[in-house]
Amino acid sequence: STPIIADPKVTRHILSAFHLRASKRLGQNFLVDRSVVQGIVDAAELSPADIVLEIGPGIGTLTQGLAETGARVVAVELDKKLPAVLAETLKGYDNVQIVPGDILKLNIPEILELRAGERFKVVANLPYYITTPIIMTLLEQRLPIERLVTMVQKEVAVRMTARPGSKDYGALSIAVQYFTVPRMVMDVPPRAFMPAPEVTSAVVACHVQDVPTVRPQDEKLFFRLVSAAFGQRRKTLLNALTGAGLTKEESRAGLAAAGIAENMRGEQLSLVAFARLSDAVGDLAK
Ligand code: SAM
Repeated sequence: STPIIADPKVTRHILSAFHLRASKRLGQNFLVDRSVVQGIVDAAELSPADIVLEIGPGIGTLTQGLAETGARVVAVELDKKLPAVLAETLKGYDNVQIVPGDILKLNIPEILELRAGERFKVVANLPYYITTPIIMTLLEQRLPIERLVTMVQKEVAVRMTARPGSKDYGALSIAVQYFTVPRMVMDVPPRAFMPAPEVTSAVVACHVQDVPTVRPQDEKLFFRLVSAAFGQRRKTLLNALTGAGLTKEESRAGLAAAGIAENMRGEQLSLVAFARLSDAVGDLAK
């Protein structure tokens, strides 16, 4: 049977056999710790009935763990050199399909061959510089995703899961918690990767909800207000909301109608309060 790829020796062997070097530009840090792979696989809660989209399989480390559950795995890899490597490292699995390309440019339901009503799970250990844009793009497209399990920098994980009142609570917390219920799964030290990154990482599991946590009448206005509130964190809401194109009078009237004190700051407002504010501002503009 195929050896476990999540191991320093096996990984070194694969890299040298294929004359590969981890590409910095593509953010390649390969997992070499099998307990981390297992933690990610467990957090995805997979069964053979599941369809998993893996983003950035690398040399197949996590892909192997996902495939072992019996789920159908479709893995999208940008590095043109890797599909040939993956064909070899994952040749023991008939439930894995490798799709070359950039996840941000592919039609996901099409590559997954999703049937009407079918949902899927997303698992990703991505380069840190594109994790947030990729997560947000997937969620905003309202794809039928059930769970999203991703490796991110520890500080990003803290922001994704932060609650109102915390210094880490901001636009990312609200965006993630609008669509999902996120949970911190585990911290991952640099030595779990080859090469080791400079920062500590963490795995976050996001359970995507059928219905968003709040339902503002105008979603665009809601996110505009959120972004204005956190664009100028130091300012009170009364002043910060002018960043969303409101006059000070409109800002004052909106806050009053929503029952929110003028001197509050964005980091103190729950999603429910932001939705109330957004509806109040929207009603006043009618
Ligand atoms: N999943 C492997 C692991 O855990 O060892 C590799 C992780 S490595 C941090 C990230 C992988 O994502 C690399 O193989 C890289 O080539 C790939 N990648 C980077 N940008 C991508 C994109 N836009 N679409 C798909 N894959 C991408």
